[in-house]
Amino acid sequence: MKNIPILMYHNIGEPPEGARLRGLYVRTGAFGWQMWLLKLLGYKGLSMSEAMPYLCGEKSGKVVAITFDDGYLDTLEQALPILNTFGFHATCYFVSGRGGQYNDWDAATLKVEKKLMTDAQIKSWHAAGMEVGAHSRTHPRLSKCTDEELQTELAGSKADLEALTGAPVTQFCYPYGDLDERVANAARSAGYSAATTVNRGRAKPGDDLMLLRRVLISGSNMLYLFMLKLLTKYEDKRG
Ligand SMILES: [Zn+2]
Repeated sequence: MKNIPILMYHNIGEPPEGARLRGLYVRTGAFGWQMWLLKLLGYKGLSMSEAMPYLCGEKSGKVVAITFDDGYLDTLEQALPILNTFGFHATCYFVSGRGGQYNDWDAATLKVEKKLMTDAQIKSWHAAGMEVGAHSRTHPRLSKCTDEELQTELAGSKADLEALTGAPVTQFCYPYGDLDERVANAARSAGYSAATTVNRGRAKPGDDLMLLRRVLISGSNMLYLFMLKLLTKYEDKRG
């Protein structure tokens, strides 16, 4: 198995009344069936750090990496119990300057304020054996940041989360998938081992670790489409 699908989730649960972009929500039951299917097919669900040897071509096997963006409370309350049931790990990318607050960067556009984990809840996520990754301090468009701001957002969020968990934070995810060469270089210089984008497709060994593509799992995806995205070129063609 050459490809390493990196699954991208945002919210797990029922989309709230009036919320836009309802595809960002995968219902808890559907998420459970997806994890069940992975297990049935013999896949291991890994955090990004655990997936690194596969991405670097040092190991091969039936693995997927599981990622959650932004650090919503539902990642802890809805996804974590299911991940535990199947013995899977995942990486959640947190906005370090917004602990315990809400998605102030897109709440107006999406017409919904979504609760983010508090610092204590981020610690519980980590204590449960899951990975804490960084997603900047304030969720800006990084390509629009000055060099100084870039440094604060990249190195700052890493330092914040390392101070909180007492563990190294080596995984980054670009807010909005917004990046250019300067941003990717800055992420590498800030000390991240890998960074994920919102470009669609399955990652494979030899890919640039600062430009990793992901497989978008949308709330409207039935189980067969989930399987197609995982096992076939379906998602790679969207990239
Ligand atoms: Zn985000």
